[in-house]
Amino acid sequence: MSANDQTDYVVALGSNLGDRRQNLRTALSALQAHPAIEVVQSSHIYETPPWGDLNQWAFYNACVRIKTPLNPDALLEFCLTTEVSMGRMRDKKWGPRLIDLDIVWWSGGKVETEHLTIPHPFADIRAFVLVPLSELGDDIKINHCTATVLLETLDQAECAKVASLPGT
Ligand code: AMP
Repeated sequence: MSANDQTDYVVALGSNLGDRRQNLRTALSALQAHPAIEVVQSSHIYETPPWGDLNQWAFYNACVRIKTPLNPDALLEFCLTTEVSMGRMRDKKWGPRLIDLDIVWWSGGKVETEHLTIPHPFADIRAFVLVPLSELGDDIKINHCTATVLLETLDQAECAKVASLPGT
């Protein structure tokens, strides 16, 4: 396989049930173990306030930059399979979750299908995505803006750096 077959993606990891730090690290290990995925960079882990349903535990969030020849649908399938294999139960929208893997961005531009939207919906207004994303390089743009620029108008005071993911 040549380097030209590779596409850059950012996958956002989130957890607010169980051992949140370990859950993120297990998800990272799953990405690293995939034979067609190269993890090239990972952000720190941040503790962040819940979004949507405010009556739940705080989240741990991180972002991981990967290179892979997988197309977006195949990567989404792997993300969903990883969530299930780690024991995630789907309950209510925006409710508590053991692990969440979302495709935030890729180098191929916009995707808008029934099952997949890239950049991830609301990524440009969610500090819990943008704060870790801002560690991964200014070539990553959501709606033509870097995470750093988008964060200028957002409250990020409650996003607290708590740990490294392996690889940082
Ligand atoms: P949730 O686990 O609540 O984040 O929702 C997962 C569902 O969102 C998946 O089944 C996808 O079909 C859909 N989805 C749409 N866009 C994305 C994306 N960029 N990354 C992950 N899931 C997505």
